[in-house]
Amino acid sequence: MLIAIVAPCYDEQDVIGRFHDEVQKVAEELLPLGHDMEFVYVDDGSRDRTLAALERLAELDSRVRYVSFSRNFGKEAALLAGLRHASGDSVVVMDADLQHPPELIKRMVDLRGQGYDQVIARRTRSGEGLTRAVTARVYYRLVNRLVDVELVDGVGDFRLPSRRVVDAILDLTEYNRFSKGLFAWVGFPSTTFEYENAVRAHGRSSWSFRSLLNYGLDGLLSFNNRPLRAALYLGMGLLLCTGLYTAWIVVAALVNGVETPGYVTIITAVTAAAAMQMIMLGIIGEYTGRIYYEVKGRPHFLVKATNVERTQDRTPYGTSKDLIP
Ligand code: UDP
Ligand code: MG
Repeated sequence: MLIAIVAPCYDEQDVIGRFHDEVQKVAEELLPLGHDMEFVYVDDGSRDRTLAALERLAELDSRVRYVSFSRNFGKEAALLAGLRHASGDSVVVMDADLQHPPELIKRMVDLRGQGYDQVIARRTRSGEGLTRAVTARVYYRLVNRLVDVELVDGVGDFRLPSRRVVDAILDLTEYNRFSKGLFAWVGFPSTTFEYENAVRAHGRSSWSFRSLLNYGLDGLLSFNNRPLRAALYLGMGLLLCTGLYTAWIVVAALVNGVETPGYVTIITAVTAAAAMQMIMLGIIGEYTGRIYYEVKGRPHFLVKATNVERTQDRTPYGTSKDLIP
């Protein structure tokens, strides 16, 4: 069996060498068991010397393939590029910052051998800030109510999909990619095991609070139109409240005569209604924006340098080949 390691790298010049040493050690252990390995590293437009480091690795080790983007296209795009250039029967997707312990690869390959198409490593949240852990918990509660596929807390991009899962993922050509959800959407027999979260080896996480928030919203919005439905219900609920309140005012006026004071009520009603309209418009706008991006049909990434021959990029409508009549 050929196992491909796919790792997106953004500003990882300090760790990528160490990362490769570690996975290379695992490769040596797997060789006697009849497993070959290839390494696909994607430089996501790093600002440091990650590309130079990758070029050196490729010189020293012929199993290394690298793809370097023309600019930073984001981790999702890097993952996609990695999957496209991996030819393994199984693909191990992992971060290059050594937060995903390479020694777990053996266990994953083992479970894959038992017939699972997706082996998923689930990270425990020990050693993480309390706020982040709590936010994550609340978020997953909420999101799983709204989204069709099941998203599990702690399940990230450390997993081993089989060839047919990878092919299925590559057939999902949407521009807005939320791979956690895509992997869940694909299905196939899956198994999950837990591991202890490791501290980042070097540098710092590129996630800010804002990018996490946006990522969370992406997860919510990229899988169905239930938020639109929720907006509709909210509007209907508000209409009902308004109706009841109006009836109450009219009855009160008939019984007690007209009372003029009501400044607070009016202001509250006006601002609340306006706020709700803004929210609903925002939700609609989000979906329209997504349609806009999909329709443009731009490639997910542009390649600046690579040692892989085949660098085809698919448009949202299939491979670029398909577009030629
Ligand atoms: N990464 C990437 N492009 C980006 C940001 C991150 O390819 O724009 C890579 C990064 O090099 C690492 C992985 O994605 O291998 C996870 O990134 P990070 O460690 O910053 O995220 P966290 O571990 O906090 O989720
Ligand atoms: Mg990390």
